[in-house]
Amino acid sequence: MKRRGHSVNPVDKNVLENKERELSDADHRILGQHLGLFSISEDVGAGLVLWHPKGTTVRNLIRDFWEEEHLKNGYQLVCTPHIAREELWRISGHLDYYRENMYVFSKDGEGYVVKPMNCPFHVQIFKARPRSYKELPIRYAEWGTVYRYERSGTLHGLLRVRGFTQDDAHIFCTAEQVENEILSLLDFTERVLEKFGFTEYRVNLSTRDPQQPEKYMGSEQEWHHAQNALANALKKKKTTYNEMLGEAVFYGPKIDLNIVDAAGREWQCTTIQFDFNLSKRFNITYVGADGKEHEIVMIHRALLGAIERFFAILTEHCRGNFPVWLAPTQVAVLPVSTVFVRYAEEVHRELLAQGVRSELDNSTSTISYKIRQAETQKIPYMAICGKNETELKKIAVRKHGLGNIGLLTVQELVHNIKQEDKP
Ligand SMILES: [Zn+2]
Repeated sequence: MKRRGHSVNPVDKNVLENKERELSDADHRILGQHLGLFSISEDVGAGLVLWHPKGTTVRNLIRDFWEEEHLKNGYQLVCTPHIAREELWRISGHLDYYRENMYVFSKDGEGYVVKPMNCPFHVQIFKARPRSYKELPIRYAEWGTVYRYERSGTLHGLLRVRGFTQDDAHIFCTAEQVENEILSLLDFTERVLEKFGFTEYRVNLSTRDPQQPEKYMGSEQEWHHAQNALANALKKKKTTYNEMLGEAVFYGPKIDLNIVDAAGREWQCTTIQFDFNLSKRFNITYVGADGKEHEIVMIHRALLGAIERFFAILTEHCRGNFPVWLAPTQVAVLPVSTVFVRYAEEVHRELLAQGVRSELDNSTSTISYKIRQAETQKIPYMAICGKNETELKKIAVRKHGLGNIGLLTVQELVHNIKQEDKP
């Protein structure tokens, strides 16, 4: 029986390849240090990530976008604790089959677990009161930070860590609603991934091995219905997919979506997974139109997967050249010499006031050095302030990788940035 947690990524072929390949300029660990995005400290512990201000900016921008999209798509945001009593994990089954990956401790004679998953918490919110069919589907979403023990030999930059945040959600719906849910979930996934520049991916549908029904939780009928719903949704979308017979975990079939990055590497990020186990263990039901209790269908899903891992993939995909909407610094304001610092300050303040992430370089370095610095920091725009610009109340704008794009007003630059921000 496969006893893996639903959102544990299989050991990535890519991770292993990464280990073997030399540290290149495009490696997220090098970029992370060079661009001041994150670090990992021995004193804190292996596989535990410290997000620096610039990395935090990118991370928060991803989250803001993600939350906004989820609200638009009928999700409700929830927030749950980092630890819970052992009892919760006994009911969920994790204590039996996932213990070696969990951080367990006790206080006042009572056992606690640092959460390796968010699911049982979302279940508790659902179960806080009786639910009617009229409320369904209910979709709870959370950037839930979880901790899982991984052997130190398997840890790798942000790609494999011990503490990470999942862009997690759980959908509770009726059997009749499943197919539509999956279909709109696939559309939603596509739109979200596209925003990050991922337009190519491969899809795997993991189904059960019909020769070994004893390996799986849930009835024949449940499996049949769930597998059909997944396959039908993929067919309706005209998505080509591989059926992975016998690859389903014991508690339900799933769809995995592997994104293809700029270097042609595949990364499994999105998972849409049925769960016949938790819904039964926690006895999750709703009251139907007939006034009777019915079993719920529970679906786990993560679109980006682990944020740390997604961030590593994204950073390598764009080689640290984040799109303008995600760039930690969007504009570097560069006075040609100390004489023009005052005007540069004015420009910098105006940009900030307009909601642009601006940085002022008021050092005494030469302008060519400042430009080089901004280039290596991969800042999308530079606003150069010299004599001419000060007199005309304009800025000489350079774009990363393109060079000079002309003399603009601050307002014009702001407009350009906002235009680029749009999907
Ligand atoms: Zn879950």
